[in-house]
Amino acid sequence: MATLFTKILNREIPADIVYEDEHVFAFRDIDPKAPVHILIVPRHEIGGLADLPESGDHQHILNAAKLIAEREGLENGYRVVINQGPDAGQSVNHLHAHLLGGRKLAWPPG
Ligand code: 5GP
Repeated sequence: MATLFTKILNREIPADIVYEDEHVFAFRDIDPKAPVHILIVPRHEIGGLADLPESGDHQHILNAAKLIAEREGLENGYRVVINQGPDAGQSVNHLHAHLLGGRKLAWPPG
């Protein structure tokens, strides 16, 4: 059974896809927590960071984050977050990173 994010990749569920390459795809979060809130997702489904293999598509998330942040004009800074597991509030079990920016981001996060 495909994950929600794989359905977005396959255009079965609509989303504002802003980036795609052979390893990852990225789209705007449906419930943005900052002016720029983009999810970066490896094409190959794994449940989360805890399942990360030593090599594969997943390693390209950070390269995509840097590129998308440049395209989005986030020269003042941005944050890349991966929620892993229930204590972090992970709600979709397909590894993804949140790229957040466009405003001052508080630290530490809640
Ligand atoms: P998590 O809580 O797992 O770290 O992040 C999941 C994210 O997916 C949430 O920020 C949530 O708003 C986003 N999300 C959930 N369903 C959809 C959807 O159908 N479309 C889009 N674009 N984002 C979604």
